Amino acid sequence: MPPVIPPVPGHDDEFFWAGVRDGRLLVQRCADCHELRHPPLPMCPHCRSLEWEAAELSGRGTIHSWVVSHHPSEPDAEPRVVVVVAMEEGVRLVSNLQGRAEDAAIDLPVEVVFEDFGDVVLPQFRVVAG
Ligand SMILES: [Zn+2]
Repeated sequence: MPPVIPPVPGHDDEFFWAGVRDGRLLVQRCADCHELRHPPLPMCPHCRSLEWEAAELSGRGTIHSWVVSHHPSEPDAEPRVVVVVAMEEGVRLVSNLQGRAEDAAIDLPVEVVFEDFGDVVLPQFRVVAG
């Protein structure tokens, strides 16, 4: 597998990565209009408030879209299934699906897993059994 390049958290998303290290999937919730948003932004796109709080997601959702990504310099490496997951709370996350490309399908129920790659823990998704 190609090396995983750790994210470089900034002011807006350091809470997200701290949550991931604790096994929690956190997104921003506007403190004024209570809309959830992801990826993190300094200002609410709905009401322009600068105030927000972290909200924990259930980790459950469905595949909204997906592609198979082949590594450009290591063509023999296992391709990654990149998914856009529609979380049950309404926000969408871009991540990877564990398993084979044949496992991916639109609207398929998935759940988050926190995979330790050594230098970094990343939220990944797997198909919900049954
Ligand atoms: Zn708002």
